[in-house]
Amino acid sequence: MKSQQIRKQFLDFFESKNHVIVPSFPMVLKNDPTLMFTNAGMVPFKEYFLGQKNATDKRVADTQKCLRVSGKHNDLEEVGKDTYHHTMFEMLGNWSFGDYFKQDAIAWAWEFLVDVLKIDKDCLYVTVFEGAEEDKLGFDQEAFDFWKALISEDRIINGNKKDNFWEMGAQGPCGPCSEIHVDIRSAEEKAKVPGKSLINKDHPQVVEIWNLVFMEFNRKADGSLEKLPFQHVDTGMGFERLCMVMQNVQSNYDTDCFTPLIREVEAITENEYGKNEEIDIAIRVISDHVRAVAFAIADGQLPSNTGAGYVIRRILRRAIRYGFTFLDKKEPFIYKLVTTLSKQMGEYFPELKAQKNLITNVIKEEENSFLRTLEQGLILLDGIIKNTQGTEVSGKKAFELFDTYGFPIDLTALILSEKNMTLNESDFNIELEKQKNRSRAAAVVETDDWVVLIDDAEEEFIGYDNLETKVKITRYRKVSSKKDGELYQLVFNMTPFYPEGGGQSGDKGYIEVDNGNVIYILNTKKENNLIIHFAKHLPKNITHVFKAVVDEKQRFRTNCNHTATHLLHQALREILGTHVEQKGSAVHSKNLRFDFSHFSKLTVDELREVEDYVNSRVESKIPLEEFRNIPMQTALDKGAMALFGEKYGDTVRAIQFGNSIELCGGTHVENTGDIWHFKIVSESAIASGIRRIEAITGDATKDYYFENNRVFFEIKDILKNSKNPQKAILDLQEENTSLKKQIEVLLKDKAKNLKGDLITEVETINGVNFLAKKLDLDAGGLKDLAFEIGNQVDNLFFIAGTENNGKAGLTCYISKSLVEEKNLNAGQVVRELGKLIQGGGGGQPFFATAGGKKPEGIAEALEKAKEYIK
Ligand code: ATP
Ligand code: MG
Repeated sequence: MKSQQIRKQFLDFFESKNHVIVPSFPMVLKNDPTLMFTNAGMVPFKEYFLGQKNATDKRVADTQKCLRVSGKHNDLEEVGKDTYHHTMFEMLGNWSFGDYFKQDAIAWAWEFLVDVLKIDKDCLYVTVFEGAEEDKLGFDQEAFDFWKALISEDRIINGNKKDNFWEMGAQGPCGPCSEIHVDIRSAEEKAKVPGKSLINKDHPQVVEIWNLVFMEFNRKADGSLEKLPFQHVDTGMGFERLCMVMQNVQSNYDTDCFTPLIREVEAITENEYGKNEEIDIAIRVISDHVRAVAFAIADGQLPSNTGAGYVIRRILRRAIRYGFTFLDKKEPFIYKLVTTLSKQMGEYFPELKAQKNLITNVIKEEENSFLRTLEQGLILLDGIIKNTQGTEVSGKKAFELFDTYGFPIDLTALILSEKNMTLNESDFNIELEKQKNRSRAAAVVETDDWVVLIDDAEEEFIGYDNLETKVKITRYRKVSSKKDGELYQLVFNMTPFYPEGGGQSGDKGYIEVDNGNVIYILNTKKENNLIIHFAKHLPKNITHVFKAVVDEKQRFRTNCNHTATHLLHQALREILGTHVEQKGSAVHSKNLRFDFSHFSKLTVDELREVEDYVNSRVESKIPLEEFRNIPMQTALDKGAMALFGEKYGDTVRAIQFGNSIELCGGTHVENTGDIWHFKIVSESAIASGIRRIEAITGDATKDYYFENNRVFFEIKDILKNSKNPQKAILDLQEENTSLKKQIEVLLKDKAKNLKGDLITEVETINGVNFLAKKLDLDAGGLKDLAFEIGNQVDNLFFIAGTENNGKAGLTCYISKSLVEEKNLNAGQVVRELGKLIQGGGGGQPFFATAGGKKPEGIAEALEKAKEYIK
């Protein structure tokens, strides 16, 4: 059965059990302060489990794009080496939000695998939680009894807390789980070693395929457990592993999820899969990683140097490096796989098809630049090897190469071993650990439990219509980190504060606590559907009613910038073409930033046209039309641009200004006229095919023009109020060039005259024609002079001192005959005498110069020079 059908069977099955089928949520999380990537199917539903949002549907099923490369779930180092862990994979899941529990979850999982997919019962095992004393939890008898009705008892295995108790994080919802494992070894192997003994033992053909989690508890900050008010089911089945079972193969990479990619890598790199372990690993790494990177880019996460972007860059670099070393590919080629991938997966995940060109270009550019890094690194490593005495290369040096230049450490080790050298790995690890500790110490955040004052699950946001209101604190907690110190997070029953999201910064403001005293709200963010206000202090009487006030000026400026962002987006698509797509945006009160796909630098005329386009809409005073809580389809019918990343079932908000319609949760001006004026301040490239525009509006543009105007008038003033300042400056530049030329000529003449005078001053000491003198010449003039005198006077030892802008210089010329016969060395002379002018220098035996900070030392230096010939 093809993978496409297997996915469909799963979804159809749960639809028949009254589940609502929803599309995958994005793999890259844009607005979640606790997580960078979706790493399990339950992530999009977190807030339901936390009880912070009520589910619209109680039964849901989906396939979710997951990425396990950072944080709690990090499989990166396994990927490629084994045959069943991926960076990006699909997790099939069915969910019950306070609806069915263990019995149905177990029965349906079994029905799907055994009755629908017809997987042989005799290759299945299940695990049940054995209990944990420290949590005062007993054996999961319930789950055991439900399983016993379906499977023979000797196939039910007890599992410990590590494998069979699932937790979302250090705190939060958790519960026992039951896993389903498959044993796909041959009958012969099964006869030799019983499958039961291989469960959870990292055997590549005895693997977990499905985990049924029964969410019953909440883990508190002190480590204790409390029962959740409702019980939920969260299941996750590895899609690629299921395909392996269904397609009767021994590795995920032999399923049709991967074979088209592997054939393509074989063809491009002229390597064959299945012949050599190192080559196989490299091919697996590349076919896996291209999926992760392509999906991340499709979700709007470009490779970069920080945060989630850096994680993506590292994945891609790992693939490039495997290709470079084991498949001998020194040129970009991974980008070529995107076509095959989008054919293979683009049907179910249309974002891959839609963004194919961008994904291809970005990957190609990254490959190019990392291959350059690798080349440079190889040269640096060569240098390190040459400077190493013995056969062990310092771990510190290797760390530098790794840390500063991004040169992979395993590549360093490999190259060294090829040269019969070794790496001091323990020193390397010490450096690595030090660096990790540094960043860990900066990032550690301690979070206390919520103190719930009023049990009010849904906090109402009223900030589209109001900037102040009376509020009550419903819950609060303390968080401490090295970076921000101690802060309190406050949640209100309702709030006018806009939480950071959709690219727009969070509101600031204050709450009035008692007779005029205020506590400032420093920022507002959203976490698992709660709007959290950050404050330095708690009010004394925490249960009072407070007046909460948003900083109106900041909010207004932010509104202007947000609306201007929409108009800018529209302008770019009108003027440059519909290939322009938003790739990121940041709306602050001071300015706005908009990243978009486009393949060349905008010309001055284009920028002007874009500004004019936006400003003409500002001048037309177009009123805001806002559509709150409308179904997605209605918004699309109105012409709003479809974005990936909306959650299923969510109603949306559409923002319209004339022909500009966008799905947007942000805040906007009432009328484009409020923006007053729009001005682009910069345009640049941030990645291959991605441009960035930074712009300002309103007051900020006034400041911008005032400042430019001030500078202009100052320049005019300097130019004695010239009527045509551009011409005045050009004239000055021209005059400057011609004066420089004249000075050169004059200096040459001066040197000529000087030469005549100087020759008369030469003294003969011990057969050496000696001349030491302080002169008023520049370096070039002095060098010419020295060589000219040298041509005329044999056996010359000439040393000159110069003083220029408080700096001292020494120039020494010694005839070649003296260098050879008397063993004199101009380089040595200036090095030694250079000390007297507090400086240093060098050069050749017959000509050298030194520079220093102490002109007062020149006389002594010239005096001392005589000693060389005595
Ligand atoms: P494993 O022990 O095999 O790493 P896990 O305990 O980490 O699995 P869960 O977190 O329970 O797995 O995830 C649910 C299911 O997702 C697993 O049963 C498995 O089929 C699949 N899965 C987990 N991690 C990966 C991965 N890195 N690549 C592919 N599938 C995975
Ligand atoms: Mg795992």
